[in-house]
Amino acid sequence: MAIDVLERDDLPFPRSLPEFQRLFPNEAACAAYLEHARWSGGFVCPRCATSGEPYRISTRPGVLRCRKCRRDTSLTAGTVMEGTHTPLSVWCWAAYLVTSQTPGISAVQFQRQLGLSCYETAFQILHKLRVGMVRPDQDRICGAGEIVEADETYVGGRTRGKGRGVHDMTIVAGAVEVRQRTRSSSLNKRKTGRYAGRVRLAVVPDRSAKSLCGFIENAVAPSTTIITDDWSGYASLATRNYLHTAVSERGDVQVTETFLPIIHLVFSNLKTWLRGIHHGVSPQHLQAYLNEFTFRFNRRFYPFNAFRSLLGIAGDVTAPTYAELYSKKSKNHYI
Ligand SMILES: [Zn+2]
Repeated sequence: MAIDVLERDDLPFPRSLPEFQRLFPNEAACAAYLEHARWSGGFVCPRCATSGEPYRISTRPGVLRCRKCRRDTSLTAGTVMEGTHTPLSVWCWAAYLVTSQTPGISAVQFQRQLGLSCYETAFQILHKLRVGMVRPDQDRICGAGEIVEADETYVGGRTRGKGRGVHDMTIVAGAVEVRQRTRSSSLNKRKTGRYAGRVRLAVVPDRSAKSLCGFIENAVAPSTTIITDDWSGYASLATRNYLHTAVSERGDVQVTETFLPIIHLVFSNLKTWLRGIHHGVSPQHLQAYLNEFTFRFNRRFYPFNAFRSLLGIAGDVTAPTYAELYSKKSKNHYI
């Protein structure tokens, strides 16, 4: 399970605010971190592919000049910070706040914490960082020999002008990797030692086999063992290259707790989180919020990855450029 694809030993990540301040004290430190994150083996000119120490211009700390072809390369090119006039240190602070603090931070709180005089700057930074979070994770979770719990739930919000009660209930399908802690782990609080790995969540139009199995085929790798309840919508999983275990729930909470505890924990966390956001989320925006929840959930043990993903400095094949994030194609994935 290559969950921590971006982990790198050579780049430290702060685990506390004081550590953060030590690692990112000023513009030069942020620029050095950024350069190291993007070119771990040393600078390589994007134009002529020459490697080697570039020229550095004291008046332009964000620019590296190739010794061979003299082309200038911006440290922020292709990242979320491209073209920005905001100091790199503010971006680093901002990404750290977004990844380490409780979700739903408002632009006003954000402005205050970063000490920015301009609300619009805070709003723009927050918006750009959140674009990175609502881009869906694309790869399918789990695989042969591994276990996924899958289920669906209703997410609903009050709708103005429609009287009492809950309206516009939306069905959310979910799948989560079930991991097993080793017995020696001191973190083993659940008796079973089971805990959640990565999650996938999607709005589905109904509870039909087409919708639910279609979701699973997009979200879960073939040959995975999938545990569901005995709803008919999941019955064809065995014929779709999965090992399927259907548990007869019959509304029994105890059965649910025993056989599908992890996905229900995910749904419970999700609903608590959604209720905290502006008193609920309208159906047309729900998928974007599901993607943000997924981003945070899947990186909860790896704030380092979240930090670099948000800034667009993850490098390698896993991170899209900021231009790609804003292209029509990737936008359509979640709208
Ligand atoms: Zn060059």
